[in-house]
Amino acid sequence: MPADKAGIIPRLRPRSAFPTQPVRPLNERPMSTVLRPSACPGLLRIVQALDGGICRIKLNGGSISADQADAVADAAELFASGAIEATNRANLQIRGIGQQSAALIERLLAVGLGPRTAAGDDVRNLMLSPAAGIDRQMHFDTRALAEQILDTLQSHPRFHQLSAKFAVQLDGGEALAMLEHRHDLWLSAFERDGEVLLAFGLAGSPTDRAFGAVALEHGHALVVAVLELFLESARPEQTRMRHLLDELPLSAFLEQLRKHLPIKALSHWQRTAAADDLHIGVHPQNAPDRVYIGAVPALGRLDPAMLRGAAQLARRFGNGSLRFTPWQSLLVPDVQASDAAQVLEGLEQLHLLTRAAQPLSRLIACTGSNGCGKGLADTKQDARHLATLLPSALNVHLSGCTRSCAAAHCAPVTLLAVSAGHYDLYFRDATLPGFGALHARNLTIEAAATLLAARSRSPLDA
Ligand code: SF4
Repeated sequence: MPADKAGIIPRLRPRSAFPTQPVRPLNERPMSTVLRPSACPGLLRIVQALDGGICRIKLNGGSISADQADAVADAAELFASGAIEATNRANLQIRGIGQQSAALIERLLAVGLGPRTAAGDDVRNLMLSPAAGIDRQMHFDTRALAEQILDTLQSHPRFHQLSAKFAVQLDGGEALAMLEHRHDLWLSAFERDGEVLLAFGLAGSPTDRAFGAVALEHGHALVVAVLELFLESARPEQTRMRHLLDELPLSAFLEQLRKHLPIKALSHWQRTAAADDLHIGVHPQNAPDRVYIGAVPALGRLDPAMLRGAAQLARRFGNGSLRFTPWQSLLVPDVQASDAAQVLEGLEQLHLLTRAAQPLSRLIACTGSNGCGKGLADTKQDARHLATLLPSALNVHLSGCTRSCAAAHCAPVTLLAVSAGHYDLYFRDATLPGFGALHARNLTIEAAATLLAARSRSPLDA
C-alpha cells in the first residue's frame, strides 16, 4: 500500500491521530511539560555527571554549519568547562555545565541546533554516512530521505514513545560507512537491474543478512511501518527491537509488514565492505578536484579553540560546514584538491590528528573516573599513556566500566578497568558476547602495551 501524502500508512494510524496545530516554539513551553524522564542527556535535558552537566547536541547526519560550530564553542566556553565531545553517534556533547544551563540551551536553540519539537529530541537517532552525498561509491544521496525520516520522528507524538536509544541507520552504500554499530532498523542501498533498492534488516547492521528490500520511493514508508509495528507489538519493557524479536518470530513481524508495503525477496545480497581509515586524512569526493579531509580529536575531546579553528577552515576552504563521524572525528568537506595540504596543516596546528598511523588516532576511551562516578580508572589519561607505548596504531577501547559508553560496537581490543590504572584485556571474538575473549586480568598500562606490542604482528584489526 502506498504511503499517504505525509508518508504515513493510513491503515496503521489514522491521520487524525497526528497533530494539526502548529508547534509552539520550544522556548515558550515549560520544560516539564515537554521532556520525559530519561538518563540520557539531550539538548533540553542536562544530565549531571561528576564534572558537571552534560548537554547532547544531535546533528542531522553529523552535519553542522561553521556558525553553529562557533556557537557550540561559545556556549561551552561561557557556560561550561569548555570540554566538547564528539560522540560515537556523530553528535556533540558539552560537558561541565554549571548554573547557567538555561543560557546555554538558549544559545544553542538560537542557532537552530534544537529539535523541531521538544519531545522529538530523544528520538532523532538516524545514522548516515559522514560522506552522504559526496562519497564516490554511494548509490544515492541519502540526505533528502533522511530529512523526511527525521521530520516524521520529531513531528509525530506516537514515535516519541520510542526509547531514547532506539536508532535507525540509513546507508547509501558509501565507502565511508560505519557498519559495526547495531541499529534497531537499518536500510542499505544497492543497485539491481539499474534500479536503486533499499535492503533492510532489524536489530543488526548492514553486514548482517537482509530480510528483504523495498524500492527507494518506499524507504520512508518502510521506516514508518516498522516503527508503528514495533510500538504496536512491544510491551513497555521491550524498548529495543532485539527485545521484541527475542519473543516474536521474525516471520510474524515480516508478515505484518508485508500487509503495508511491497517487499521484494532478496537472496545473495551482501553489503560491500567499507574501507578502514577513510575518516582520517585526505580523500577524493564524487566531484572532480574535490576532497574531504578527516581529522580526529584525541579521544573525542575538543576545546573551543579547536572547534572554532576547524569551522574557520571550513569557511575558508570548504563549503562552510563540518561533518562529525561515528569514529568521534570530523570532516572538512568540499575542499579543492589543491588546498588540501593547507587544510591538513591547519588541522594539525589545532592539534587534531590527521594520520591513521598515529596510535592516539585509533584509541577510544570513555569519560572515566575523571568525570564519571562509575569509572574505575582514568581511562582518558591511561589511553594517552598507552599511545606513547604502542609501537604501531591499534584499535583499542578503554572502558571505565562495563557500560561501554565510548563504543557502540565491540572493538578489536578492549581494556576494561578493574581499578585505578589496572585493566582486564579482551580480544574481539565473533562467537562471544560483550567484549569478546578475556585474555589477561588486572594489567597495568605498561603490561597491556607489552602484550599488545607482541600481538600486533597478528591480525588483531581484521
Ligand atoms: S563506560 Fe562506565 S565509566 Fe565510562 S563513562 Fe560510561 S558509565 Fe562512566
